[in-house]
Amino acid sequence: MPSVRSLLLLLCCGVPQVLFAQSPDPQPPVFADWFEDRALRLEFIVAGHATEHTIALQEIFEEPCWPEHPGLLLPRRQLCSTRARVYDAASGTLICQRSFDTLFSEYTTTTPAANKTRRSFEFVVRIPLPKAPVRLVLEERNRQYNYEPVFETTIAPDDLHIRRESVRQDEILDIHIAGAPQSSLDLTFLAEGYTAEQSADFKADLQRMSDFLLTQSPWNEFRDNISIRGIFRPSPEQGTDEPHRRIYRNTNLGATFNIFDLDRYLLSEQNHDIHRMAAQVPSDTVVLLANSKTYGGGAVCLDYCISTTGHNNSPLVFIHELAHSFAGLADEYTGNVAYNQMYPDDQEPMEANITRNLNRETLKWRQFLSPDIPLPTPNLPQPEASEKQLVGAFEGGGYLKQGMFRSEQDCWMGSLLRDEGFCVVCREAIRETIKGHLGK
Ligand SMILES: [Zn+2]
Repeated sequence: MPSVRSLLLLLCCGVPQVLFAQSPDPQPPVFADWFEDRALRLEFIVAGHATEHTIALQEIFEEPCWPEHPGLLLPRRQLCSTRARVYDAASGTLICQRSFDTLFSEYTTTTPAANKTRRSFEFVVRIPLPKAPVRLVLEERNRQYNYEPVFETTIAPDDLHIRRESVRQDEILDIHIAGAPQSSLDLTFLAEGYTAEQSADFKADLQRMSDFLLTQSPWNEFRDNISIRGIFRPSPEQGTDEPHRRIYRNTNLGATFNIFDLDRYLLSEQNHDIHRMAAQVPSDTVVLLANSKTYGGGAVCLDYCISTTGHNNSPLVFIHELAHSFAGLADEYTGNVAYNQMYPDDQEPMEANITRNLNRETLKWRQFLSPDIPLPTPNLPQPEASEKQLVGAFEGGGYLKQGMFRSEQDCWMGSLLRDEGFCVVCREAIRETIKGHLGK
């Protein structure tokens, strides 16, 4: 039997997640000046390969509320490969910014993409409903970590072609409701691969994941500020696709293992459907629960994550994947993945929890370093309990054995073996992301 760690080594997740400090806007936009308490969801298609692609807008939907905190129009932290910037069309004022990854950006790092095999992927951008026409610009990060514009369009909020129909059709499960959506963190769980007869199974799995999350640090600190809702839509068949085993199932969101040919990498490529289903409730972040006993999961940074529910370690997989999709954290393990050089050699990764920088004065987690800890910090084959708590710079992380460092010997972003959960750096990054959603 492979160990949990080796299983996780194969569980690649997310796309490069970027974290950098943006110079603060001297006068941040006031929500009510520019926006209504509703949302626009823009559905895009991106198609191409490693060196060439095109982006096209497919549909725009209006959603009935804006669930995010109104103070989060220009988040302090920028993450991920792509960002959407919204400018007031008349004045040119930057009034909103969103960053996220797409599955396409991950695809561009694979060998088929390098061999110019063209593929198309879906992605979604959600912004508050503007009061006046806006210019929306999509920018992508290049290998020098600068953002370049790749798509631009003007959106008039009174455009008759914006679809405004009701999207309510499924059973909504209010598992844990904190308060008004804008001042709470709203987690939405979508049922995937549960048949009509299995609605009780979905509810039990959702309750188990919810109970686990709300008792783990740092999530447990915000129990009273987190709302958890489930959306149940029966799938015609149970389970998920597993192409390597020639298993194919007819499910609502098309979740499939073997994304980019990796054994345990599970995702759905029906990104538009995911967000159409989630739009039935106020959602800050989306989780798919896949009704399968097979070990696995996946995440797309600041978009959504997925985990199976029937494996003993499913709650751990879920909380690991959520750290990617919600807080933009990197994997801290090394090992075989489908990517060719996910992190450029000459760039400091912008995720909070991995670094190439060993300078004690500028190390991104320098405030947490243990006293007199050597940098780099030697990896310990069998660390004592006290040594597991040491914060230094341990070599190995971000799929690289050398030249990339993590803060503690073990962390749930690197291995599920650790009893203590996330390392101090990951806990702080998740905490700060939650606080941002709460306007704190
Ligand atoms: Zn960590």
